[in-house]
Amino acid sequence: MQSVVKKRLKKNMRIYLSILFLFIILASTVFGIDNTKKKQVIISFDDGYYSVYKYAFPVLKEHKILMTLALITSYLEKSNIPRPYGNINMFMNRGEVQEMIDALDIEIASHSVNHPDLTKLSEEKIKYELNKSKQTLDSLFNQETVSFVYPYGAVNRKVVELTKAAGYKLGRSIRWGEPNLWVDRYLLPIKEVRNTTTIDEVIRHINNYQTTILLFHRLSPQPVVFTEWSNYKFEELINRLRADPNLEFLTLRDLYVKWWQEIMIKYVKEKGWLANQILFDKIDIDKTRTFNSSIIK
Ligand SMILES: [Zn+2]
Repeated sequence: MQSVVKKRLKKNMRIYLSILFLFIILASTVFGIDNTKKKQVIISFDDGYYSVYKYAFPVLKEHKILMTLALITSYLEKSNIPRPYGNINMFMNRGEVQEMIDALDIEIASHSVNHPDLTKLSEEKIKYELNKSKQTLDSLFNQETVSFVYPYGAVNRKVVELTKAAGYKLGRSIRWGEPNLWVDRYLLPIKEVRNTTTIDEVIRHINNYQTTILLFHRLSPQPVVFTEWSNYKFEELINRLRADPNLEFLTLRDLYVKWWQEIMIKYVKEKGWLANQILFDKIDIDKTRTFNSSIIK
């Protein structure tokens, strides 16, 4: 008996989903989702240095520009654990991160628990770094963490598979290049800004590609190590980018959503209404957990 009810609900659910699907397509056409050919810039900071809060946050807040911040979860609390990247005061604490989320709705990505080279760990330890950091960030910041940033950019097939299995939707590497629909979304490439990088070089890269993920580590008035960049240059860069009306700023999380919209629209354009049937035939409604026992009466 219950299976009959379920079948009928499945049929109805297909109609609801079809209506939703049509709405998305119509909305995307009417409101121009994905029709804009604006260049996309994603500002990302790795490791969670305090200098991000001190120098980048005020500039980004002034211009209402989003960023993706990749955090090493064991560094978030001011405990005396050994930190290979410097003393505890060099990193942001949980309150400072929360302040940035409240002000700007920035994206928090995971950069593991302890920042190890994942390619050198056992499967069990890789899983710990992926799962534990996700759980911590999900609960600390009341979010679903979708992006994982490989420590040192070290990644192999096994790490990619485990990243997927841990529930992340994107993996970011440190190789140079342009992220787009044809790139493995677990190996997203970037443009790294190092202490020798000039503002013009960054702008040239942005102008040459549709989408750019800019990677920064820390900012300083007097950059010394290669991962530092001048906070004055950062401010100037943001001012210059902000003046360009053909740029939009987003996070990795936003990029993921936009790519899905793009895929759906491409699919519909190619297959027409048939795409609707094909897409939803592939969905196992029970697995979507759209139903619960209270609906089935
Ligand atoms: Zn790092």
